[in-house]
Amino acid sequence: MNTTELQPRGLKWRSVLGHIAMFLVLAVVSSAFNTSGAYVPALWLPSGYGLALMFISGSRALPLVFVGAIISAWVQALMPVAEPVKMTPVMLTVLSTYGFIVPVVTWWSYHKTSRQPSPLVSYKAFLWLLGTLTLASVVATLPLVFHTLLFQPESAMAGDSLLLRGSFSAFLGSLIIAPAIIAIGKASAFPRRVQRPAEWFVWFLTLGFVITMASYEPVQTLFLLLPLMTWAATRFSLPGAMLAIGIAALSGLACSFVALPLDQNGNLYLLTETLIAMMVAASCYVRVLLEDRERIENGLEAVVEERTRELQLTNYELKDEIFVRQQAEKSFRRSSRHYRALFETASNPIVVIDDRIRIRQWNGAAEILFGYSRDEAVGRSLTDAFIPREQKDELAWKILKVLNSGLTQDTIETQIKSFSGNRHIILWNLNRLHEDEDDGRAQLILIGQDISEIRRTQDQLHYLAHYDVLTDTANRRLFEDRCRQAITSSLRHGHHCALIGLDIDHFKRINDTLGHDAGDHLLQEIARRLGENVREEDTIARLGGDEFAVLLSQVSGAEGCEKVARGLLDAMTRPIAVPGGEVIITSSIGITLAPDDGRSYEQLLKNADMAMYRAKKAGRNNLQFFSSDMNEDMLRQMSLEHELREAIKAGQFELHYQPVINAKSGKIVGLEALLRWHHPEKGMLVPKDFIDVAEQTGQLQALGEWVCHNACLQARAIQAMSGYPVPVSINLSSRQYNHPKLTEQLGRIIGETRLDPTLLLIEIDERILSDRLEETAKTLAQLKELGIGLVLDRFGSGLSSLRLLRELPFDQVKIDQHLLRHATTEESTGAIVHTLINLARQLSLTVAATGIETADQDSFLRQAGCHLLQGHRFCPAISSEELAALFQRVKQGYTLLPADQFSLPLSGESPHTGDQ
Ligand code: GH3
Ligand code: MG
Repeated sequence: MNTTELQPRGLKWRSVLGHIAMFLVLAVVSSAFNTSGAYVPALWLPSGYGLALMFISGSRALPLVFVGAIISAWVQALMPVAEPVKMTPVMLTVLSTYGFIVPVVTWWSYHKTSRQPSPLVSYKAFLWLLGTLTLASVVATLPLVFHTLLFQPESAMAGDSLLLRGSFSAFLGSLIIAPAIIAIGKASAFPRRVQRPAEWFVWFLTLGFVITMASYEPVQTLFLLLPLMTWAATRFSLPGAMLAIGIAALSGLACSFVALPLDQNGNLYLLTETLIAMMVAASCYVRVLLEDRERIENGLEAVVEERTRELQLTNYELKDEIFVRQQAEKSFRRSSRHYRALFETASNPIVVIDDRIRIRQWNGAAEILFGYSRDEAVGRSLTDAFIPREQKDELAWKILKVLNSGLTQDTIETQIKSFSGNRHIILWNLNRLHEDEDDGRAQLILIGQDISEIRRTQDQLHYLAHYDVLTDTANRRLFEDRCRQAITSSLRHGHHCALIGLDIDHFKRINDTLGHDAGDHLLQEIARRLGENVREEDTIARLGGDEFAVLLSQVSGAEGCEKVARGLLDAMTRPIAVPGGEVIITSSIGITLAPDDGRSYEQLLKNADMAMYRAKKAGRNNLQFFSSDMNEDMLRQMSLEHELREAIKAGQFELHYQPVINAKSGKIVGLEALLRWHHPEKGMLVPKDFIDVAEQTGQLQALGEWVCHNACLQARAIQAMSGYPVPVSINLSSRQYNHPKLTEQLGRIIGETRLDPTLLLIEIDERILSDRLEETAKTLAQLKELGIGLVLDRFGSGLSSLRLLRELPFDQVKIDQHLLRHATTEESTGAIVHTLINLARQLSLTVAATGIETADQDSFLRQAGCHLLQGHRFCPAISSEELAALFQRVKQGYTLLPADQFSLPLSGESPHTGDQ
């Protein structure tokens, strides 16, 4: 229902005038129905108009209705009545009240009883209107009746008649025009064009006919109004029907008013009035009923339309939703397929587990890597079935953490036991999945990466970075680290830790004689023995070559340390099996204690090294504790090392020569070149003062080369001095001898100095010749090829003299000085020297002796048959200038043979003495 229709309309001034005019007109029309003896006409239309205004404009119409009632009363009072009544002010008031009460009471009581704002919207509302109108009509007439009874008892009309007359007058007057005006007023716009004009026309014709008939026979004909009204009610629109019914009723009433004889109490007239009222009420009711039905139908239609529209909307929405769902399903199926493919073809093992760590899914890569099929794996507990016991708890804890905390992912590294028994190291990426819709359990997806190889490589790298591969002991780096920790700990807890340096004695010889593989094997065995003789917490390291170090992390002072070190020395000297026999090796040990000797790793390492060096010097196979004087030694050595470097550049070296004489003639038959260092502060130094330092600091090679070069240069000058060929001999250090380019070097020097190679003798210490005779023989043969003479120095000092003599191309042997020193006093040594000399002589080698100081030694050697003699007894080593002077004197007849030598015996001559 359109509620705006029910809003009371505002009243404008112009319309107020119009309404008043309307009241006037209606009052005039009504007064046409005046009857004699009655104050109110038979039909009181103004009350109907007032009622219509009330329904249209609500309470705002009250003043207008009030004014209208007064004006209508005035008109009524002024209009002529058939039998005049006396119109008093009271009467006027009562009449006005009558005109006012009918609309107001009807409107008020209607609104109190009906819920519908308009009486024409439903049949019930119309019935309420009829009821309230009847009530209001009666109520409005009561003052009129009382007034007549009180003030005009002589009036023609009895009280009850007046009550009926007044009530009907108001009732009919209202019913004739109020519905029509309400209907017109309710319509949003008055129809501009009459609908169904032909029907209206016919209807009016019929009305005219009925009216004409009624003017002759009013009572009977009036019944014909009923079909007319019903016609209008069923065929015309609501306002049209109401208007038509009103017109019909008014016409019928007018007709009967004109045609009927008015009796005294107007009963007949009342009858027609009642009749018309019934017809009007019935017709209006029918029209309202139809309107109501139409409205309900329209309403139903609207509802159906509304519902249909809603259903259509819902339908569209549903269709949209179905489409979206279908798309989502499709995309879900697609992504599910992708996920499956990804899951299956992934090269990484992927495992899905639930919150009880049971395996739910197990992909192909997991099958291949771990050797368990999907069927074997699914349903089992991941931790119980595949994870080593020691890692179970950690993994379970991580899984629970990801499942139960806000964390959605994490990583963990575990091992996995595969079917074949191998253990793979897997780096797992743990990701929480959304709850499984089936059972609402949380799930976890574990994506693994096999990092076994990476870990192995890392371990290997770590091992290589910290351990010595050959001996499986710590390397320098790890050792340093452990030492630093041990020093810190000893400082904090007040105990001692010790660093033991250990170097194998003469290890080079082992390499040279047995080969490097055997050497390696020995090093491994030594490391093993060291490990056996120290505690678990101690550290053994190989610092390089044959040098080991042991860290005793906690020792009870020097005594405890010595005990351990002696144990190590003893362990070293136990025979070690090598291919083809056994060897016994010894080692030298240096010990230092922290924090007494030093508080830093560097300091301790240096200390141990110095002590070890001292042990070497002390004859090897022993141990030495570090002492502060070693430091001084070391400092001395360091300064010497520095000076040595400068010395070659500064030309502080020179060669001295010691003559070698023929035992028989005393003639100088050779010169041994000996190195001398003119130290600016320490004076003249001999090789033993600096040769160790030169060797340790790697300067020996350069020094050796310098000696060779200068000896060769000066040898040519010497020939000029002597006037006859005098060979010059030089000593080769072991380093020079072992130099791979020795022959090449000597050949080059000889070439550069243009020396006759036969004037150069090379003295090689017996002790530096190894047992690898093949190589030695090759080297010596090459030297021989150059034309150089070869001297076996310190003959008899080693154990293999005989073999060397037999197999190597020496020209000369030089008896070991140490043997000679004791030869004159010890019988056995004398016998050995005799034998050695005889042996050499038998092999046709020239026999020389050096270091002869006394006449006894001279005599002994002469008797033993030594060909060449050298020593202080004859001449010390002298400078080249002195040598020139010597040769000068020799030329003048000077001999180097001492005066007493003529008393000494002489053995037979040899062809190789150089005696010319
Ligand atoms: P010393 O008594 O003075 O120690 O004499 P040494 O012969 O042992 O001389 P040194 O300690 O100076 O030389 C160590 C030698 O160890 C040098 C080298 O030939 C040998 N060496 C170094 N590293 C290895 C190795 O890895 N394997 C083998 N077999 N020998 C090695
Ligand atoms: Mg060594």
